[in-house]
Amino acid sequence: MDEFELISRYFSNCGAKRHDTGIGVGDDAAVLQVRDGCDLVITTDTMVAGTHFFPDADPRALGHKLVAVNVSDIAAMGAEPAWLSLAITLPSVDETWLSAFAAGLHETAEYYNCQLVGGDTTRGPMSLTMVAKGIVPRGKAITRSGAKVGDYIYVTGTLGDAALGLKLCQGLHEVSKKHQTHILQRFHFPSARVALGQALRNIASSAMDLSDGLYSDIQHILKRSGVGASIDVSRLPLSQAVKDSCDNATAMQLALSGGEDYELLFTVPEAKRGSLDVLLSPYGIAITCIGRITGVAGKLELKQAEQPFNYVHSGFIHF
Ligand code: ADP
Ligand code: MG
Repeated sequence: MDEFELISRYFSNCGAKRHDTGIGVGDDAAVLQVRDGCDLVITTDTMVAGTHFFPDADPRALGHKLVAVNVSDIAAMGAEPAWLSLAITLPSVDETWLSAFAAGLHETAEYYNCQLVGGDTTRGPMSLTMVAKGIVPRGKAITRSGAKVGDYIYVTGTLGDAALGLKLCQGLHEVSKKHQTHILQRFHFPSARVALGQALRNIASSAMDLSDGLYSDIQHILKRSGVGASIDVSRLPLSQAVKDSCDNATAMQLALSGGEDYELLFTVPEAKRGSLDVLLSPYGIAITCIGRITGVAGKLELKQAEQPFNYVHSGFIHF
């Protein structure tokens, strides 16, 4: 099978069929009909075999995850995901692998109403790069730089599940049978908080998605907003699976330093707080207040029931 057959078989009808796609896969470039009065939001994520996933990982899960982690960045900006591009490098043409990978891409892209509109296909050590493009009403994107002193800090969902899933896969931690499905789902098939991200547009002062873990990710908001944060670790939302599988110290480690949960971290001013529960309840995803923004620029203070919480962070270091 040559490159063009491969593209047409696996990547030419992938994801939703959007009416605002002028030209998708097949020409020199895609043509996208961005709505009047909107900003285009673009993000890129790469997954390298051996670094970001096990070389023998389930290809359907890889396809899912590649879309979900890119869409998660679009969601964190409060934007609507619309179009995807895929640059894929493969050591060889393995049709069993490709059809499962393409199925994962397709079902997840369709779920988020995204269309695959282009890419590049090359031979080499396996690497998967996706570009996601989204749209947001002009000037309404939620950034990392808007947090203000006194704002309340929230996270969606629960923290540490994906990191526990990774440990389970690596044989480093035991999880009882009844929780395994949930934990593995959270690790292999993460969800992007798309609808909730858009609902935060007129509520949140800043937002980001959690890919590297709360402890290191929140520093990006602190740096870009020029503020500090105080977090009460006893309020960190934990799943029943994490509670049942880990002692308290391990649970804290997973929730603070575990990566790949793809939950949203956001800040809300006092004045908007009252409407928060009502406005976000239709989305069916729990949100939890975990602390406040402080005026001590760059400082992250961890507390447990009003006492300082001593914590040694050990996160994923990219370089
Ligand atoms: P060019 O040489 O002009 O860059 P290619 O021959 O690389 O174009 O690609 C042909 C078409 O197939 C283009 O529309 C390109 O965007 C698309 N394409 C190539 N690889 C992929 C892929 N992995 N997924 C989706 N579309 C792809
Ligand atoms: Mg060309």
